[in-house]
Amino acid sequence: MSPAYKWYAPSFTPGRPVRQGAVGRLGGARRAHGGRLAGPAQGFSAGGAMPTDVVPDYRAVVRRLREVNGPTMLDGHSDPYDVLIATILSQRSRDETTDRVFRALKARWPDVRALSRARVADVDSVIHSIGFHRQKARGVVAAARAVMDRHGGAVPVTKEELMALPMVGPKTAGCVLVYAFGDASAIPVDTHVHRISNRLGWVRTRTPERTEEELERRVPRDLWLDLNSLFVDHGKHVCLPRRPRCGQCPIARWCKRVGVA
Ligand code: SF4
Repeated sequence: MSPAYKWYAPSFTPGRPVRQGAVGRLGGARRAHGGRLAGPAQGFSAGGAMPTDVVPDYRAVVRRLREVNGPTMLDGHSDPYDVLIATILSQRSRDETTDRVFRALKARWPDVRALSRARVADVDSVIHSIGFHRQKARGVVAAARAVMDRHGGAVPVTKEELMALPMVGPKTAGCVLVYAFGDASAIPVDTHVHRISNRLGWVRTRTPERTEEELERRVPRDLWLDLNSLFVDHGKHVCLPRRPRCGQCPIARWCKRVGVA
């Protein structure tokens, strides 16, 4: 990850249909949602009341969310190029914007080779409607060139190699691993995963980076693959940032509701 460009929240994934949720219109081609810079988990209160009679039950929560959410994006893995570039574009941007901009970019530069040969100014002109477009234009071209130069045009398949690419940090690398390769060797932590993990009482962290570390220490590895997908859906439609719908929450019985009034 570029140290000057941290982000944590891809919930957008190319190719996924917009899901019109019960709350708002937060669809977009989903996954890699607009990211947020590191900060306290929303609703997190170090001094907030935490019920002591709720024991973290990772399996029960994941099982229940799978029942409720149905098929996840993992049912159809996306092209690694799509996930890599769209996830970079999605930083601090809405799904709808990321979706539209990514499709425009891909229409003109359909693969890594083409994008690696693009002029940054041309990319910038195509993606200018998205936030931080200059930085992102430089970033996606640099990432494509690095994939060409270092990996012969194939998006790498290890977290270490991915994170050596420009503008790729743990979150982006995790999304590529999970959503492009179906590789559960990381838990991508975006703002939804960060917030919900803290509310559930699974972790008590102030940054997505720490949340990722803690989740990967605590959550059984066989639950990693679709945790991001499940929590992003849950965070968009039930466990909303400002007004979580606890009364309608299918996992309320396992939630400590940390920091939730
Ligand atoms: Fe979020 Fe409330 Fe559900 Fe806990 S009970 S996961 S705070 S919506």
